[in-house]
Amino acid sequence: MSEADGPHRVAIRHVPVRHVLILGGTTEGRRLAADLAADPAVRVTSSLAGRVAEPRLPAGQVRIGGFGGPAGLAAWLREQHVDALIDATHPFAESISRNAALAAAEVHVPLLALRRPSWVPVPGDDWHSAGSLAEAAEALPGLGRRIFLTTGRQGLAAFAHLTGLHFLARSVDAPEAPLPPDLDVLLDRGPFTLDGERAVLREHRIDVLVTKDSGGAATAPKLTAARELGLPVVVVRRPTPPPGIPSAPDVAAALAWLGLL
Ligand code: NAP
Repeated sequence: MSEADGPHRVAIRHVPVRHVLILGGTTEGRRLAADLAADPAVRVTSSLAGRVAEPRLPAGQVRIGGFGGPAGLAAWLREQHVDALIDATHPFAESISRNAALAAAEVHVPLLALRRPSWVPVPGDDWHSAGSLAEAAEALPGLGRRIFLTTGRQGLAAFAHLTGLHFLARSVDAPEAPLPPDLDVLLDRGPFTLDGERAVLREHRIDVLVTKDSGGAATAPKLTAARELGLPVVVVRRPTPPPGIPSAPDVAAALAWLGLL
């Protein structure tokens, strides 16, 4: 008799593996992928848009590039037998979130938005709310002359017509035209420290900060540094997310939604 047939034989439980697709490009998307990749009952694929030349790759499988609109995403969900879809994209990535809502509804795949909470002003903040990058650009001439743009390289065109102002733009990769005529570029990628942000604001003699309401800790120290220096901050409000999609504020809540906590 072989050992496998004996009294100590180990029963093997067959747990069905669930395929989770994460639409990523964010810190939270990477954290969720790391947790799911460690779970043998889950197959996790992360999808990145391919905007960044050298992206930080999440754990698990990764695919890069657009799907070809909602129909392409729906086809991918079907062909790859996706059981759950997590939209962990940036709160300003409007198109892919809309596509996710349409595709998930079409193929009846449960969809959760993993969306970090908005930033909230605290006493001492001098925040100016803007509905769009264009509205932020309109507000600038009345607020200062040396502007720190932290809205990402894709939105710089909204500021390209502002000739009388000096801009410092921070982005992961170099921005492309159209750009403001008086522009310095700082190539860097978060997370950022409070000391680092204080140094940037002082060294570049910044008098206005422009940011999207991205939320989260990785890029929040600039808000503290601006507050300390009494600088106005133009905060671009988030676009409205697609209606009727459940949302989780953090990775733990997303794991709970998946039934894994
Ligand atoms: P977007 O405007 O919402 O999407 C434009 C198109 O890019 C989508 O229609 C889709 O193409 C493709 N796409 C976007 N995200 C994708 C993903 N995760 N996987 C596969 N395809 C994707 O997106 P965006 O604002 O340019 O953002 C692109 C990526 O950068 C997202 O992953 C987002 O999380 C990340 N990000 C964005 C910001 C921001 O401020 N917008 C900031 C930090 C990180 P198809 O229609 O062909 O599928």
